[in-house]
Amino acid sequence: MERKINYLHLRKQPYGIFERTPEIDYDSGAEILYVSSHELPPDEIWGSYNPITHTIKINRDLSEDKKRATLAHESGHALGINDEHQTDLYAAYKIGSFDFVRQFSRKPG
Ligand SMILES: [Zn+2]
Repeated sequence: MERKINYLHLRKQPYGIFERTPEIDYDSGAEILYVSSHELPPDEIWGSYNPITHTIKINRDLSEDKKRATLAHESGHALGINDEHQTDLYAAYKIGSFDFVRQFSRKPG
């Protein structure tokens, strides 16, 4: 008789059963957190990158398009690009549309 093992119970749960698996930006390896606006630095209302923790925070209340553009922008910072214009160029490359990114390019952070 075949024994069935439920591997789900055997798998290690490094982040705890009730916490979700972290979302990772695969280009930079940074962890992505979707947070409320008060969890962002006061001058960065859409998103921020923290180089100490290698974490990208995105305002969870943004539209899906704005989240996507902001994540691509912060991904550029996570790769070490500091200049805002260069970061937007990287975001345009990552998304594949400069027009898409340009809609959201005039922002701090
Ligand atoms: Zn920026």
